[in-house]
Amino acid sequence: MSIALADLRDALNGAPDNQIMRMMLVRRLVDDGELSEALGLAVDLSPAEVPAAGDRAVLAKLFRSAGLASRAEAFADGAPETAPEAPVDETPVTPSPAQTGGLRVVGGQEADTTPPEATPALGFGDVGGLEQVKKDIRRRIILPFAQPNLVARFRKTAGGGVLLYGPPGCGKTLLARATAGECGARFLNAPLSEILHPHPGESERRLSALFNKAREDRPTVLFFDEIEALAAKRSNASHSHVGQLISHFLTEFDGIDSDNSGVLILAATNTPWAIDPAFLRGGRFDRLFFVPPPDRPARASIFDLELAGRPGADALKADQFAAKTAGLSGADIRAIVDMATDDAIDVTLDTGKEQPITPKMIDGAINGFASSVGDWLATAKDYATYANESGRYDDVLDFLANHGRK
Ligand code: ATP
Repeated sequence: MSIALADLRDALNGAPDNQIMRMMLVRRLVDDGELSEALGLAVDLSPAEVPAAGDRAVLAKLFRSAGLASRAEAFADGAPETAPEAPVDETPVTPSPAQTGGLRVVGGQEADTTPPEATPALGFGDVGGLEQVKKDIRRRIILPFAQPNLVARFRKTAGGGVLLYGPPGCGKTLLARATAGECGARFLNAPLSEILHPHPGESERRLSALFNKAREDRPTVLFFDEIEALAAKRSNASHSHVGQLISHFLTEFDGIDSDNSGVLILAATNTPWAIDPAFLRGGRFDRLFFVPPPDRPARASIFDLELAGRPGADALKADQFAAKTAGLSGADIRAIVDMATDDAIDVTLDTGKEQPITPKMIDGAINGFASSVGDWLATAKDYATYANESGRYDDVLDFLANHGRK
């Protein structure tokens, strides 16, 4: 006898972190053809939490039908060819640009500026740790992107931009790229060095060209790194044309004359407190996600990701290195692994015999690094304590409290 759907829903409401229960409900909803609700629940599951091949096959098919290719792939891995077929409706539920109304895209004049290159797709599997941010992004960005109708039913709009903030080298850019991959969207990186130009009017022209490019081939994630260079408080703007550029950006962002669907605007900054409040207003960058420094499990996972496939990797214990690297960023860990790899290559060249990377090589590289996130946390603590308007930096305060830095 199968359990009533209402009972399964009640059970999950009472224990929302019970992923076995969640999976049972997802399967049941898929059986009943309730794909939107199934998808809404399934986005909170990670592959590690779904060991059964049959369940993974159901999820892979569900995500594929929603156009979330990278997420489908993550669950398809290891699922046997003969995994039981789930009765998932094959009708694609990928949003049309018109459906995604509210996601920001901006039109404008054709421009001859060479656009930034699209980069290969990544997924959340390529990002170590950051589980809470990934969960928030799945719920607040990926789901609305894939299921605008569901979101609209709750009378919510999916629009606005998202601002990722945190210390340097801790994965903001990586996360933005992975979000694009998870959404099945193209990723356009917009380095400000390629936008800002001393000649008056040129920066505006480049900005418009970029927004146009983003709209040409939707869905697109348009990513502005170091947004503070563009969005510095107007009082800090040294030249009047910087103020003009901000106004131009906001006009493009608000998309008064444009079809603003199908482009998600993400931005990143190390100094959210330097951003002009006009950028943070509702409908603009009104969702702030804190991308914290990696904790020990996250550091272990970044070591694992960086070491994967290199000679000697299987014998290396990532957690031991994680224990010695408190206060270092993901970028530091990448540099440590690169330095140890260089050592192994040197020995290989000297001896003519392949030298695996050893724990000693990694330890040697670790010794050269000092905490790179400490200064950032000290500054962030001041702002979070004395300038925490509408609880904007509550996540920073939570992080500091949980890591003994209150
Ligand atoms: P910045 O503020 O300086 O632009 P960032 O926060 O955008 O830094 P990234 O550019 O995403 O940081 O990270 C730099 C590199 O560090 C990545 O390309 C990746 O190799 C590594 N890295 C950082 N964080 C992670 C992570 N969580 N998982 C895996 N690799 C990471």
